[in-house]
Parts: sequence; C-alpha cells; structure tokens
Amino acid sequence: MTKTAKKEMKGKIVINRELCKGCKYCIMACPKGSIVIDRKFNSMGYFPARFEHPEKCTGCAICAQMCPEIAIEVWRED
Ligand code: SF4
Ligand code: SF4
Repeated sequence: MTKTAKKEMKGKIVINRELCKGCKYCIMACPKGSIVIDRKFNSMGYFPARFEHPEKCTGCAICAQMCPEIAIEVWRED
C-alpha cells in the first residue's frame, strides 16, 4: 500500500475590524471554521469577524473573496 503525503498549506488572515460590517459571509465560506464573530463591537457598532482558529487556516483566500468590504488580507506559507 502506498501512502500519499499530502502537505496542507498554512495560511494566516488579518481582518480589519473597523472595515467589517459583521455580515458573516467569510464565516459561512471558510471551509475550516477558522473565523467567528467577535463579542465586542467596533466603532461603527457592528460585531466584526475574528480570526479564531489560525492553526486550521490553509490560506485558501475564500474568505477574502467573499468579503464585500475588502476587510480581509490573506497570507500564505509556501
Ligand atoms: S484563508 Fe481559507 S481557511 Fe483561512 S480563514 Fe480564510 S477561508 Fe478560512
Ligand atoms: S465578510 Fe467581511 S464584512 Fe462580512 S463579516 Fe467577514 S470580514 Fe466582516
């Protein structure tokens, strides 16, 4: 039996909480469940998204593509 070594990529996101309007699109889109809603609201009165599980992030960038406010930056390790 052969084993396929599939290395999963590591990623990191940075959410600009002041740009975020708490629409949750990124949360619904993230296949890893890495993002949650924060309990503290931002200066606009929205509960923004928070990067809760960085260890699960693959840097796939789906969250950033979904964000209508362009509030998410994605970094990926090669
Ligand atoms: S880059 Fe991908 S895995 Fe990481 S938080 Fe965004 S959607 Fe989730
Ligand atoms: S998609 Fe963008 S605006 Fe919506 S909750 Fe996520 S970071 Fe905030």
